[in-house]
Amino acid sequence: MRRAAIIGAGPAGLMAAEQLAQAGIAVTLYERLPSPARKFLMAGRGGLNLTHSEPLPQFLARYGAASAWLAPFIEAFPPEALGAWCKGLGIETFVGTSGRVFPRDMKATPLLRAWLKRLGGLGVTLVTRATWTGWDATGALTFEGAPAIAPDVTILALGGASWPRLGSDGSWVAALAGIATTPFKPANCGVLHHWSAHFITRAAGLPLKRIVASTGGQAAAGEITITRTGLEGGAIYALSPPLRAQIEQSGQALLRLDLRPSLTLEALAAKLGGSESLATKLRKAGLSSAAAALVQELRHRGSNAPIPELVKALPLTITGMAGLERAISSAGGVKRTELTPDLMLRARPGVFLAGEMLDWEAPTGGYLLQACFATGRAAGQGALRWLARG
Ligand SMILES: Cc1cc2nc3c(=O)[nH]c(=O)nc-3n(C[C@H](O)[C@H](O)[C@H](O)COP(=O)(O)OP(=O)(O)OC[C@H]3O[C@@H](n4cnc5c(N)ncnc54)[C@H](O)[C@@H]3O)c2cc1C
Repeated sequence: MRRAAIIGAGPAGLMAAEQLAQAGIAVTLYERLPSPARKFLMAGRGGLNLTHSEPLPQFLARYGAASAWLAPFIEAFPPEALGAWCKGLGIETFVGTSGRVFPRDMKATPLLRAWLKRLGGLGVTLVTRATWTGWDATGALTFEGAPAIAPDVTILALGGASWPRLGSDGSWVAALAGIATTPFKPANCGVLHHWSAHFITRAAGLPLKRIVASTGGQAAAGEITITRTGLEGGAIYALSPPLRAQIEQSGQALLRLDLRPSLTLEALAAKLGGSESLATKLRKAGLSSAAAALVQELRHRGSNAPIPELVKALPLTITGMAGLERAISSAGGVKRTELTPDLMLRARPGVFLAGEMLDWEAPTGGYLLQACFATGRAAGQGALRWLARG
């Protein structure tokens, strides 16, 4: 019987394990933590946004520069196929008002439990507390916490570098010395801005709902939360790439917020006329307390821009990105040029890669998990073809 070693028990590794085990390969799955898929379970705390229901061309465009690379994997396992796969595990999904797809109970635990049961039934052996450290001189995989092994095929699904306490910290880069990687950077994370002490006391934790944020020629609608150190939330996450690029280039980025996107500048100017106090006028113009506090913060700091212009394009200087420790995902990873179209390392025949450890990034909205599932499946199938070729 052919033997496969899969290292990393996140969604990408589990999906690869399923492909190989279903084809009758003896699969051993290695995981450094005491239990599998901790980041996947953490994603479940936010409702487990599995994928998105938008048309495939639009969906693929979300991967930016990596969309052409990822397209064949996602076309072979598109969002509908992921929905059917969930159903096969007894998990019904639904499309939310934003087009995002979730399990009906919005939890990761039932799905993971059913999935691990299926893998157990297929004979997959899970070895936990085993940290992969590289290869020895004979080409065997070496571990801290498990004996070395020389399988017929290997799949690495070691994750990116965000939320390191959930297992994936990018330290595998050392074991892949000689393989070109793009350094990890936080993606889908908060940004830093210096607020006044008065503003923090008044507004930290408050949401800015239905706003449009823009920077570097890109815009994102959604919700933002004001934090003590800056801003967090979907509209900010979606702008991670242009914000990061500007900060890398010049040390800061200019973010503009439209706090009343449904009103034109003229309509807003009409509502903000009159002799009442600024606070009253902002309230009458439909600004939430957080949005009004933001406008007043800018005025306190000396902005003399007309109020309607501040409301429509409030400028904020972003001084940095929040760290990898709390970023939802990371950008960077093994470069596409190191891999065959089957996701096999050119420099190490028989070793396939999948998931967030590859060099792509995407916004939140289910695009992260969809790409991890799809590349896990593709790596598993690539490994099967490689085994078949002998
Ligand atoms: C708070 C949060 C919420 C999220 N919500 C969503 C969401 O709703 N929708 C969405 O699409 N995405 C979401 N994500 C992102 C998503 O969870 C990840 O993109 C996905 O889990 C990556 O899958 P992966 O299999 O590539 O890697 P991971 O899930 O990171 O798994 C990699 C595994 O490899 C193990 N490992 C690493 N190095 C070694 C080693 N040397 N030896 C052995 N094992 C090792 C790790 O312990 C880990 O278990 C969220 C992420 C976070 C942090």
